[in-house]
Amino acid sequence: MRATIVGAGVSGLTTAVALLEAGWDVAVVARETHESTVSVVAAAVWTTTVAEPLESTRRWAIVGWHRFAEIAADPESGVVPLRQRELERTDPGPTWWETTPYARRMATDELPPGYGAGFEVDGFMIEPLIYLRWLTERLTALGGTVTIAEVVGFADLDGDVVVNCSGLGATVLVGDESVSPIRGQVVAVANPGIRDAVADESDIDRIAYVYPRSQEVVLGGTRHVGSVDPEPDQIITQQILDRCAQLDSRVGGLEVLDVRVGLRPGRPTVRVERELVSDGRPVVHNYGHGGAGFILSWGCALEVLDLAATAC
Ligand SMILES: Cc1cc2nc3c(=O)[nH]c(=O)nc-3n(C[C@H](O)[C@H](O)[C@H](O)COP(=O)(O)OP(=O)(O)OC[C@H]3O[C@@H](n4cnc5c(N)ncnc54)[C@H](O)[C@@H]3O)c2cc1C
Repeated sequence: MRATIVGAGVSGLTTAVALLEAGWDVAVVARETHESTVSVVAAAVWTTTVAEPLESTRRWAIVGWHRFAEIAADPESGVVPLRQRELERTDPGPTWWETTPYARRMATDELPPGYGAGFEVDGFMIEPLIYLRWLTERLTALGGTVTIAEVVGFADLDGDVVVNCSGLGATVLVGDESVSPIRGQVVAVANPGIRDAVADESDIDRIAYVYPRSQEVVLGGTRHVGSVDPEPDQIITQQILDRCAQLDSRVGGLEVLDVRVGLRPGRPTVRVERELVSDGRPVVHNYGHGGAGFILSWGCALEVLDLAATAC
């Protein structure tokens, strides 16, 4: 069976590898290579998510956890285990992740002052540039191809199935008006040897996080719905630096290496769904992952595989 996949961000590349591993012929077509996607800007941590639809996203996230655990065994993959403390000023009540073996609700005496709840999460740090290159190499080694081109409709594409992993591009490509940009800005600082992460999840629009990578620490973050400004904002940079230094004093005063901006593909619910296009061929959609595209990537890709296989 042959599939054409639109998009070379984390969703498109992961779906391509999942289909190739299942024996499909796969061609990826994307307007930009992975280096220019929002996927490269992501903090790219496997952590908890409340993306909707929750009954699907928690399943996809758990599938992803297990796949990233396998991938982390390859030192070339850019994926490493990461222990994180997720702190909440107000207790969110029961959560799906504390029912898993890789998250633990912290005891009251373990919480910093001012916090009502916290979770210790054993997740993964994914260095996007390294990981997306690793995925692309795996795709090529399995016989897949990547072509850089704009897609204006599905009818001209080859394949028994088309998979739409166009992220924010779905607004134009399939006229999905429920997709909207959610601007995010992060600050990369030199890593003095930090290996554990901490995040304050109390305010969804002003999440603060300290995520260490091999060479840098990613400090975040912001969430501005509808904003498309690609330029870093200096005031926001300073706010991020201040908030993160309050959260974790180890990052105060570190050298700023880079400031990055990306537009998350926001949608009220992640869309993984099959439909028929005008020529009768199935299209499987896989977009609208908002701030959870890495977390959900393997779960969504394997669901696409099921939907594609049963369509042919
Ligand atoms: C600051 C920040 C922090 C983040 N942190 C995390 C995190 O910790 N964990 C996590 O899981 N997620 C995180 N995210 C979210 C994550 O980055 C996204 O959910 C994910 O990258 C979306 O991937 P995608 O492949 O669906 O879309 P994209 O990466 O946007 O890729 C879309 C692809 O489709 C192509 N395309 C679009 N339209 C067309 C067209 N008409 N023709 C041809 N090609 C087309 C594009 O060229 C591109 O290749 C973060 C995002 C930001 C901005």
